[in-house]
Amino acid sequence: MRKPFIAGNWKMNMTIKEGLEYINEFKDLVKDAEAEVGVCVPATMLKDLVEAAKGTNIKIGAQNMHFENSGAFTGEIAPKMLKEIGVDYVIIGHSERRMYYNETNETVNKKVLKAIEVEIDPILCVGESLELRESGEMKPFVKEQIVKAFENVKAEDVSKVVVAYEPIWAIGTGKTATADQANEMTAFVRETIKSLYDQTVADAVRIQYGGSVKPANVKEIMSKSDIDGALVGGASLVADTFSKVAVY
Ligand code: 13P
Repeated sequence: MRKPFIAGNWKMNMTIKEGLEYINEFKDLVKDAEAEVGVCVPATMLKDLVEAAKGTNIKIGAQNMHFENSGAFTGEIAPKMLKEIGVDYVIIGHSERRMYYNETNETVNKKVLKAIEVEIDPILCVGESLELRESGEMKPFVKEQIVKAFENVKAEDVSKVVVAYEPIWAIGTGKTATADQANEMTAFVRETIKSLYDQTVADAVRIQYGGSVKPANVKEIMSKSDIDGALVGGASLVADTFSKVAVY
């Protein structure tokens, strides 16, 4: 059985003070959530929020990390720096990082392998642009993202990876993929993982949908067979709103 996982991605929002206030309010609202619940927050507040979330059911994740252990990479954060803080998850290859910061399938693969090595579970993001969706070419594109991301990932490590299928055209646009469109693609991601490994491995991987998920649509999205959770941007920024997504 795959445990559903609802994660927030705060992106570049909130101060430490606001983050701490959020966790303080959020922890009571989600304490009985059936799903696993987490927030991926800016690096500056990771340490404080990991502390604040101790003794709660809230997982804390980072939004990026470098694939090298250390070195001359000004402004970057090394895997062991996140490990030292004690984060549970790290988002890898979000479309905004692919779009604005030259993240490629190759760097994504290196980061996935490194995250597994240092035992921080990666939330691997994939998803197509509007252009690809309209041309009907989304499946080959997403397939390539998955195949490259899982290169050299051992079968026994695959279930440590959470895949987030996030069609770029549905991110921050208010345009949600229909639940059926989302399910078709998450099922396709699972099918692709099966082709790389086997059915048992594919069945163990949690696949989230991301793109304008909110309290009003989460129930329908989560009712679908191959959707195991959500990665939520805008609707995760207010504790009360996000709690209604997390406890759907
Ligand atoms: P929105 O929920 O704001 O569409 O963002 C989705 C997302 O990018 C989560 O990583």
